[in-house]
Order: sequence, then structure tokens, then C-alpha cells
Amino acid sequence: MTTGNTPTSRGMSTGEISEMMVTARIMVMKALQVNARLTEEYPDAHCALDFTTPFQLAVATILSAQCTDERVNKTTPALFALYPTEEEMAAADLTDIEAIVKPCGFYHNKAKNIQAMAREIVGHGLPDTMDELVSLPGIGRKTANVILGNAFDTPGLPVDTHVKRVSNRLGLTTHQDPVKIEKDLCEQLPEEEWTMFSHRLIYHGRQVCQARKPNCERCVLEDLCASR
Ligand code: SF4
Repeated sequence: MTTGNTPTSRGMSTGEISEMMVTARIMVMKALQVNARLTEEYPDAHCALDFTTPFQLAVATILSAQCTDERVNKTTPALFALYPTEEEMAAADLTDIEAIVKPCGFYHNKAKNIQAMAREIVGHGLPDTMDELVSLPGIGRKTANVILGNAFDTPGLPVDTHVKRVSNRLGLTTHQDPVKIEKDLCEQLPEEEWTMFSHRLIYHGRQVCQARKPNCERCVLEDLCASR
């Protein structure tokens, strides 16, 4: 049995361990409060990308890299009208895909990845696990989390630039690495909240806690925020 400051096998005293547990519990309570207030503030928060199938969401998410969701939503109707499924996208002429997705930027790479991803899933559809999704061309962890949470109703917490900035300002994480931020936030919230929490932070980052000049005076999280 360990007592007071007796070192454990991992080199931490029991005092340090209980301090860590108290801090973790405080972070959980804070994250729950943040989530509750943002739920009230943004009752309609949702995925801003238009899609009707998991495949189409994967395509839209690939296109959204370094591009606004509005621009993607203006681009995908023409793309999905011609190539609504992985079968049609796989068989398309690459230069035709490029011409349509050009307004989204980085169109050579995006078109190439979209077609390569489509070709890999022909016959069996888009997979619904993180490991399988990230093995596909053009799909990283953030995109996989978007797909899991919004197309498969499977908990996923995408960390984009807004989630990264707002969660750091609030003090819910001290990390800059998206994978570590995702881990911190996922530990603080029940998994059924992960996807919507990401949407809510994105809404808040766009509407109030903007990168250049956060509007703290009208922020419902001001009293909880580590930056204030
Ligand atoms: S108080 Fe300011 S910095 Fe903190 S979350 Fe709100 S807008 Fe962002």
C-alpha cells in the first residue's frame, strides 16, 4: 500500500497522483459546462458541408482542406450530379474532376485523391472505422472523424483550426498537436457529445472567438475562459 508521498512504480507520489486526478476532474466539469453553454448558444450547430451519402461527405471533406465550406458547397452539386457514387467517380476522366474542383484550390491533388479513394472503395463502400478510413488516399484523422461522426453516427471529434484555437484559449488543452487535443477533449466529455462538441466549438470560433480578435465581451464562456 502506498502512503503520502511514497513514490509509485511510475515515479509519482500518491500526492501527485491525487492532485492529477483532481485537476482531471476539474477539467471534466469545465468541459461539461462549456458544452452545456454552447449547446444553448448554438442549438442548430451541424456539419456545414452538404452531402447525401458517406462517400459524398468524404469527397466534400477532402475538398474542404484549405478552402471554405461555402466554396465546397458551391462546387459539389456539379461534381455529384456527374459522379454521385464511387463507381462513377472511379471511372471519370481525372481532368474532368480537376476542372470541376478547381475553385477549391490544390485541385490536382484533391482530384487525384478523390478518384484514388473512390477506386479503393468500389464494390464495398466507404468503411466505418478509423483505421480503415485513414488508410484511404486523402483521408487523415480529421477527415475520418468528420465522416465517422456525421455519416456513420459513430463518435468522432474532428480537430480543425477553430477547435484547436478555442480549446486552447479556454484552457481545455495546452497542446498544439491535433491528435493530443482530440485525446484531451475526448477524455473530458462523454463520447455521444464528441461530434457535436466539435461543431459547437467551430461555430463559436467562427462567430465569437475569431482568430484575430476574439469578441470576449459577448462570449458566453468568458467566466470559464483561461485567456481572460
Ligand atoms: S472569452 Fe474570449 S478568448 Fe475566451 S472563448 Fe470567449 S471569445 Fe474566446
